[in-house]
Amino acid sequence: EAIHARVLGQAARRGSAPALVDTVSGRTITYGELAVLVQRLAAGLAAEGIGKGDVVALHSPNTVLFPVVFYATTTAGGTVTTLSPLATAPEIAKQLLDSGARILVTVSPLLAAANGAVEIVRDRTGSAIEVLVCDEAAGHRSILSLLRDGEVPPSDLDPATDVAVLPYSSGTTGTPKGVMLTHRNISTNLEQLTDLHRVEEGDRIIAILPFFHIYGMAVLLNNALMRGATVYVHPRFDLDAFLTSLERDRITHAYIAPPVMLVLAKHPAVAKLDLSNLRRIICAAAPLDAGLQKAVADRLGVEIGQAYGMTELSPGTHIHVDGNLDEPVACVGHLFPSTKARLVDPATGADVATGEPGELWISGPQVMKGYFGRPEDTDAMVDADGWLHTGDIARVDEDGNWFIVDRVKELIKYKGYQVAPAELEAVLLNHPAIADAAVIGVYDEENNEVPKAFVVPMPGAEVSPESVMEYVAGQVAPYKKVRQVEFIDAVPKAASGKILRRQLRER
Ligand code: ATP
Ligand code: MG
Repeated sequence: EAIHARVLGQAARRGSAPALVDTVSGRTITYGELAVLVQRLAAGLAAEGIGKGDVVALHSPNTVLFPVVFYATTTAGGTVTTLSPLATAPEIAKQLLDSGARILVTVSPLLAAANGAVEIVRDRTGSAIEVLVCDEAAGHRSILSLLRDGEVPPSDLDPATDVAVLPYSSGTTGTPKGVMLTHRNISTNLEQLTDLHRVEEGDRIIAILPFFHIYGMAVLLNNALMRGATVYVHPRFDLDAFLTSLERDRITHAYIAPPVMLVLAKHPAVAKLDLSNLRRIICAAAPLDAGLQKAVADRLGVEIGQAYGMTELSPGTHIHVDGNLDEPVACVGHLFPSTKARLVDPATGADVATGEPGELWISGPQVMKGYFGRPEDTDAMVDADGWLHTGDIARVDEDGNWFIVDRVKELIKYKGYQVAPAELEAVLLNHPAIADAAVIGVYDEENNEVPKAFVVPMPGAEVSPESVMEYVAGQVAPYKKVRQVEFIDAVPKAASGKILRRQLRER
């Protein structure tokens, strides 16, 4: 099924129920309005020549009109490629060139970067990409001027093979790659999730994750709007606005990444909030330590689950609530239905013994169609039998509870042992004087790869590198000891909450 049909099939029936609320201006779009706006913009985009196979680039912070552009594009038969609102002109140009986008939709505050990118593309290829704005800006057409009544011409969309969304992976480990997700990929992943999210009509979901990234796109747009929830839209993550909105908007569900878990565990303002409506928090995108999960669950008295996924998996394969709180790394729960998983020794390709960690391989209807224009990268990621090699190390217990250990590439090889940075980060975060931490492998004088911790101390706290190393040594096997410590002001993280270890390595 096409994603707009799957997500907005019930929208007209929901009529005046609020679909999206702008938490800054209060502007609300009801389900009825959303359904109409999507149809009218789809007709307008079709009149601009957007149809099957055409790519529209969407470069915007979270706004109430973001989903209008998103679903209107797919309704017209086209493909949406999403861009970070923080992207620079050269970064945008790169994605425009790579994806072959014909139209760039942005917002007026981002026009300088958008126009800069379009100029780069014109210089490079001679082709002119039209820039449209969602609001108003002199010299640019607004998407609102495209709205028109009348039927959207049929686009011969084939949900099984046509690409609905072309998000780019986060670029944590290398160059971001365009991930082709078909309508079927996304629709079946939504179906697999249906009962697991426990989102119902009328629930109120806070949207602080970016819509442009697959995680926010999946849970704050596709799933939330399919279920009939109201999405409280935050244009960016602002701590005060987030905490205020949690209480004022009587939020029932929050989807977050580990950095926000840290805030919920440690920030004094959280204790004063009335969060009696909050039922569920889901954390995903990066390793979550069980101590932190437990601290937040105890402090707020809500269910905290974890999910695992990646852009190439549309994005989900695992979700869980009521984590096994005795584990150092929190449990990501059970495998989704109609999904198969293997744990494999990355060196030999052989399955590991039950209970042992191995590289997680996935096969299922949510596995991407491939990387756009990169057949070799696709072949390296998805093998001839359809197994996608995630690059993540996981293990599973006898009850089918899954745990993500770390990325294969991040494992530190200390004298033949393997050390997972995520485990050491979990230990460090439990230290009362440590606000945040990240661990990477560095080489010591004897050319051994050893764990080095970058530590952000709590304001006013007195900690020394020696005391940090001693603390960790008291909690882990000797081969896992942190052997170097550096204090920093903040851990560099991507918009999706992932630690940018590359930046730490470059220091
Ligand atoms: P790139 O592939 O471009 O290097 P990326 O892998 O960070 O970037 P994403 O698709 O956004 O791009 O992220 C997927 C990755 O996020 C997974 O492979 C995994 O390493 C990590 N991840 C997601 N959820 C979890 C989780 N619950 N626990 C641990 N890691 C997670
Ligand atoms: Mg990846």
